[in-house]
Amino acid sequence: MDDYRDQGQRRKLVDLLRKKGITDQQVLEAIGHVPRHLFIDDTALRAHAYEDIPFPIGCGQTISQPYTVAFQTQLLRVGRGMKVLEIGTGSGYQTAVLVQMGAKVFTIERHRPLHVRSRERLEDLGLRARTYYGDGYKGLPAHAPFDRVLVTCGAPFVPEALVKQLKPGGILVIPVGEGDVQRMLVVTKDEAGISHQVDMGAFRFVPMLGEKENG
Ligand code: SAH
Repeated sequence: MDDYRDQGQRRKLVDLLRKKGITDQQVLEAIGHVPRHLFIDDTALRAHAYEDIPFPIGCGQTISQPYTVAFQTQLLRVGRGMKVLEIGTGSGYQTAVLVQMGAKVFTIERHRPLHVRSRERLEDLGLRARTYYGDGYKGLPAHAPFDRVLVTCGAPFVPEALVKQLKPGGILVIPVGEGDVQRMLVVTKDEAGISHQVDMGAFRFVPMLGEKENG
């Protein structure tokens, strides 16, 4: 259910994100459309869905703070019809924002219960995305290359496979750093296939886990 109160709260969230410096109109419109409360199962937490904070979603993971979603999506410069690979489906909220912007989204999650739940939820909302259960470090070679790659967990380094699966002219947005704080890196691949990187500041993410790690 998405009633007038939810919609009103969403408009306020969009105003707040604008005040915090998000300028990309497509990003703001998508956040204004996607019912974030429906990506939070815990009914007590749902009441706070439009506050600019992260929430637990099970398996020790979180749905990212709306500002972080907006900031990463803005850096990604998504256009309609672009092929976008997301690492860390989690709740599916970021996936939904990308779908809402007209991207063809491929998304990978390494926790099976989150993969299953987010797939159901996106389907219920009529949002078409290709969801995969697997290891984000490997990307999706069978579907590469991608126009954009977005990593929504804190990676210890930039995985080579993800850069490889980027088209020339493509953009990879990835928070990198071990420990509590990561640097938001924007890696661009030029037409000659050479990658360049820019640091866009400090953020906090749950860690990107390897195949055999628990978490
Ligand atoms: N985009 C999500 C954010 C979820 S938090 C949302 O909008 O809700 C990051 C997610 O990355 C978690 O669900 C975590 O399980 C997942 N993750 C961690 N390491 C991963 C890996 N190696 N491959 C794929 N997903 C991973």
